Amino acid sequence: MRRMTSSGDTSSYSGLRLRMVESQLRARGVGDQRVLDAMSRVPRHEFAPERYRDEAYEDHPLPIGEGQTISQPYIVALMLDALALSPADRVLEVGTGSGYVTALLAELAAQVFSMERHGELADSARDVLARRGYTNVSVIVGDGSQGFGECSPYDAIIVSAAAPELPRALLAQLAEGGRMIIPVGPADSQQLQLIRMENGQPRITLRELCRFVPLVSGEGSC
Ligand code: SAH
Repeated sequence: MRRMTSSGDTSSYSGLRLRMVESQLRARGVGDQRVLDAMSRVPRHEFAPERYRDEAYEDHPLPIGEGQTISQPYIVALMLDALALSPADRVLEVGTGSGYVTALLAELAAQVFSMERHGELADSARDVLARRGYTNVSVIVGDGSQGFGECSPYDAIIVSAAAPELPRALLAQLAEGGRMIIPVGPADSQQLQLIRMENGQPRITLRELCRFVPLVSGEGSC
């Protein structure tokens, strides 16, 4: 039987979560202690649909409805680690989905703007984020491939959907010294790209291979 704690967590889920951090993240080289701590705290199962909660700490993505998924914990950790976030950073997230990564960003940075094209996913992410008490997050319904110019520039941008090529609008919203992590490539396989804005020029580092749902944008995409 599961014991509930005051935060709505359960002792078995918190045990699974700590094991996830040790065996799937730290053991595979995720080094940013703030990322590991945040992933030890944020209850991933609360962002998963009811029927997948018991799988929330396993080493794979989970369906969240609308044909979308919450990324595998290791990929999330890898992307957050690459961004080297500091507590004063302002962050843009493209692809709120369940709101899980949004919650982690809210723990790691000062202000988070998160864009989601599906109104229903945005609504349920807003609900769970509010329930968890985050006040430094805005979820915006819209096409994130165009970014959110109103509040740019951003110190960091994280894109959780696969772009066929680097969206220029997002590059333009990256602050000097800012970092962006984004999967780039065709639908069946992409590569993470880490971009750092230096003297007004994007410096690109190619990182791990990955597979994300598509970043849907432009004409005829809906
Ligand atoms: N980080 C999310 C992963 C969500 S999957 C999580 O932890 O749950 C990717 C999300 O990107 C989906 O919810 C999808 O609807 C959204 N998406 C795809 N194209 C988009 C676009 N152009 N603008 C905003 N969101 C988009």
